[in-house]
Amino acid sequence: MTSTWTSSEKVVRIDQVGGPEQLKLVSIEVGMPGPGEVRIRHKACGLNFIDIYHRNGVYPLPMPHSLGMEGAGVVEAVGEGVTHLAVGDRAAYASPPPGAYATARVLPARSVCKLPDDISFETGAAMMLKGLTAQYLLRRTLPQGGLQAGDTVLFHAAAGGVGLIACQWAKALGLQLIGTAGSDEKCELARQAGAAHVINYRSEPDFATRVREITEGRGVKVVYDSVGADTWEGSLNSLAPFGLMVSFGNASGVVPPVNLGTLAAKGSLYLTRPTLFTHLATREASQAMADELFAMVSRGTLRIPVEQRYPLAEVVQAHRDMEARTTVGCGVLLT
Ligand code: NDP
Repeated sequence: MTSTWTSSEKVVRIDQVGGPEQLKLVSIEVGMPGPGEVRIRHKACGLNFIDIYHRNGVYPLPMPHSLGMEGAGVVEAVGEGVTHLAVGDRAAYASPPPGAYATARVLPARSVCKLPDDISFETGAAMMLKGLTAQYLLRRTLPQGGLQAGDTVLFHAAAGGVGLIACQWAKALGLQLIGTAGSDEKCELARQAGAAHVINYRSEPDFATRVREITEGRGVKVVYDSVGADTWEGSLNSLAPFGLMVSFGNASGVVPPVNLGTLAAKGSLYLTRPTLFTHLATREASQAMADELFAMVSRGTLRIPVEQRYPLAEVVQAHRDMEARTTVGCGVLLT
């Protein structure tokens, strides 16, 4: 292997923002990693709702661009200064820049971790972005005074990828998680994963009233809201005084500009708009977070629910399914 080694790889690329039909499978030359980078041959890539925001322009990217923020595979080459990985290692990551929908790629090594032998590539590819998100939400994004066993939180889209992992994690922490989902079948999956209560917010759009009933009028300490525009108002109405609103996604559309006075009127609420990638900013933090996730999966406390599998060439269908809300748990593209 020389420093000029390249190979022709299949990569999913968009040339302009738009619908799933913009996703094109193309061949490009992938070269060697530079300083601080690693080259990975993927076995599987994770599907995430953020890939839709990249594709449709909600989170703008320079064009053309490849997509995908999560993957698992084998290290093929390491760049100068990378000491925690070696050629032949099994590895998994959640990391910008987008580009995981590919047979192989080069990316910054900082967030790439060795994948324990007892965790499959498919599970590794499905769990890094979604599992680390569930982790930072429930363990690092906390209300005043933190969360104690027995506390009640509201978690929207609880049967999705992040959602089904969060249900299990919350149960392991002793939290009473109220999960919302868009069908009775999805609600049942969230319940089985550990949600103490479930609400079908399509048949019962006034979920805040149900939350008040469940909490005997108190409201919840934290709302974890990735649905965005459709749930914003109800989420604020579900919070106890001094409660924390965690707005971490926009599946139904971006939340309109907020009048901060609303937070005062609804009980001195706190508001945060976090992203996983602030938490993964250093190698040490990435590894510490991944170690905790790996331990939870290896012990069997967390089961990563891979419920959709597509060949890389069927990425268009994968995006259609995610947008149509027909998916549950995690999805992967197999390379
Ligand atoms: P999911 O598998 O949860 O899919 C999104 C879900 O959102 C759907 O399945 C659907 O569930 C629900 N939803 C509600 N309204 C709509 C709508 N109008 N259109 C489509 N879906 C809708 O995705 P992920 O697990 O990948 O991610 C969950 C959320 O978390 C996303 O919004 C994502 O962007 C966000 N996220 C944020 C991160 C951060 O750090 N800020 C990191 C990772 C994810 P239902 O039918 O049950 O309503």
